[in-house]
Amino acid sequence: GRDPKRRVLKDVFGFDDFRPGQADVMETLLSGRHVLAVMPTGAGKSLCYQVPALVLGGLTIVVSPLVALMQDQVAALRLAGVAADTINSSLERDANVAAWRRVASGQTRLLYLAPERLMTERMLDALARLDIRLIAVDEAHCISQWGPAFRREYEDLARLRDIFPEVPIIALTATADETTRTDISARLFADRVDTLVLGFDRPNIKLAIEPKQDSKRQLLRFVERHSGRSGIVYCLSRRKTEEMAAFLEQNGVTALAYHAGMSKDAREANQNAFMTLSGVVMVATIAFGMGIDKPDVAYVFHTDLPASLEAYYQEIGRAGRDGRSAEAHMLYGLGDIRTRRLFIDDEDASPEHKRRSHGRLDTLIGYCETAQCRRQVLLGYFGEEAQPCGNCDNCLNQAPRADGSTEARIILAA
Ligand code: ADP
Ligand code: MG
Ligand code: ZN
Repeated sequence: GRDPKRRVLKDVFGFDDFRPGQADVMETLLSGRHVLAVMPTGAGKSLCYQVPALVLGGLTIVVSPLVALMQDQVAALRLAGVAADTINSSLERDANVAAWRRVASGQTRLLYLAPERLMTERMLDALARLDIRLIAVDEAHCISQWGPAFRREYEDLARLRDIFPEVPIIALTATADETTRTDISARLFADRVDTLVLGFDRPNIKLAIEPKQDSKRQLLRFVERHSGRSGIVYCLSRRKTEEMAAFLEQNGVTALAYHAGMSKDAREANQNAFMTLSGVVMVATIAFGMGIDKPDVAYVFHTDLPASLEAYYQEIGRAGRDGRSAEAHMLYGLGDIRTRRLFIDDEDASPEHKRRSHGRLDTLIGYCETAQCRRQVLLGYFGEEAQPCGNCDNCLNQAPRADGSTEARIILAA
């Protein structure tokens, strides 16, 4: 007969073909092995466990860091007719009880849980009595304490492999350098892992960096070049997101702010507007974006330096998911480096951790400073070789650059 995973892909999700890497990941899981899938944002990581979950039957547990992400995924699955549930702190007690009844009676195929809820003794005991066939850990880089998004609740997931020794585990992430990959594997799998590192390149995203001068004006000029298109603007501080959004609004641009200091209602209203309308500019801190799946984001604009090259890669990956040409544009100035260094020094972390964070920042500065093809440098950092891309500022502007030490160039750029 037909390949069961292809049948599920078509009959349940309505897709004719797998995206690159999906079929390999699914085959590996279906053969009972663990998988670490490192695939770019927009590659279609969710299907990599959703399809096997339906092929395998029984219950699949999905660990996801954010309630909003879980709700979105569960809603999308239900629309496709899949019995999916989540139990989480934002639901009424009755809703959680009803969800648990469906899980316990074997109706639910995919159960979404935050790590801290999954790893309670009560939940683990209850789940141990059920027919668990697969465990998926989404945004798995959160488990690595060297990673830019480390979450303490993820650390505890390392116990899963002993609690459910027969169950294949898939860890999914868009961002993982060599150290982070090794770290994820060691913690989640200990052994028996098939790491699949898939292509990182997003060739439709033009990469550019501009010396920071007057960020408001620079942002406005950029946004006006893309008027009518949706875009994400990242700022370092909450205050700045509001200032920038207000400035854009004053200049006739539809702009909204998003940061963790806003009320839940205000945040959700702005996120919904961004997701459902076109031509809205979302001015946000990095609180916005994890798992954002809006295909027609034309650009990601950084008014400030991100924390690391991994963070940068993940953030710009939200642009151009529809495959159309898109831009990643960053303003870069000396002051930002100072700010980032102070952030790291002020962190409540071990000297070793701080040393690594400074190292990551140095790597990012290297990327900002390079006269080489930016895509080559970016992909090279993730272990992928590439030819000069012809779609970054350095490739497009082959004019000779000023000589001088790195320091001199930083000062010139400031
Ligand atoms: P990721 O988690 O890797 O960032 P998602 O799982 O959110 O990506 O998928 C991104 C988008 O790609 C979703 O809209 C999804 O429906 C779509 N998608 C995934 N796989 C396929 C496929 N095989 N064919 C068509 N669209 C797909
Ligand atoms: Mg995802
Ligand atoms: Zn290039």
